Amino acid sequence: MPSTRHAAFQAALQNKYRAVAFDFDGTLTPFARFEIPTELKIKLAHLPPQVPRALCTGRDLKFVRQQLDNIVAHAENPNEEKKRWALFTENGAEGFVWNAEQKDFEQFFEVEWPETTVPQEKLVALLSQKGGFWNRVLARPHTVVMRHHNWIYYLPKLTRIFSRRMHKKLERWIREEWAASYLQIQDSGIGNVVLPVLAGKGNAMRRWVERLKIDPKTLVVVGDQAAKGGNDYDFLSGEVGTAFTVGELSQEAAPLAVFDAKGRRLQGPEGTRTLLENIHWETLHP
Ligand SMILES: [Mg+2]
Repeated sequence: MPSTRHAAFQAALQNKYRAVAFDFDGTLTPFARFEIPTELKIKLAHLPPQVPRALCTGRDLKFVRQQLDNIVAHAENPNEEKKRWALFTENGAEGFVWNAEQKDFEQFFEVEWPETTVPQEKLVALLSQKGGFWNRVLARPHTVVMRHHNWIYYLPKLTRIFSRRMHKKLERWIREEWAASYLQIQDSGIGNVVLPVLAGKGNAMRRWVERLKIDPKTLVVVGDQAAKGGNDYDFLSGEVGTAFTVGELSQEAAPLAVFDAKGRRLQGPEGTRTLLENIHWETLHP
């Protein structure tokens, strides 16, 4: 008898899906390792052409563009393959789709940093002072990121613990100064992202589904930080999309876990690749 979670995974594989969005760190890459395994890159570069696909990550546009180039390099026609992707960066604060005329990605929405209520410089100064030696604060156009020093990433377990502890501290430090209605704080497992309240990967997927004009349930979303406070919590809530986790489980019904044929739960890139090998896609445009 398969477990309840395994049975739910098998049931989800009976449906057909139209689009797919992937978190990057811990979902396409092994946790706290920053390279997508070649086997998975090949798989990602050979999704059926009619299926819109997206990267949806806390990272910035420059990084995501580079990663997409690394993926499409494995396609028969990298230039054609690239056009099929959408990019959601800075934890869903911005979305980009391909513009055929400009031959480049074009922003289709943006959630601005609430600069008048939370000056970024002030937040960065506060976090730099409180965070001390162990952390690095990075200001980005729509978010502020709190990372660890590079050496910590050699120790994945420690990375996760540090990141979760930092999340709790950030909640405290930021809430002392600003109300929760302006900012949210999300833990990616390898660092924390402070973002405008209307950003977030879940909101980004709502905007993408509206643009694609598809039934939200036919969007597959894959991530790894599904727990409350994690940066995939809203992405994998099941509100928009059929959600799969290749990392943390959460207590609620969503997200679904991924299993191999023997009923073993799979995580990280192996889980993502196995999901893609088993999922069924709609064959025609609506
Ligand atoms: Mg992740």
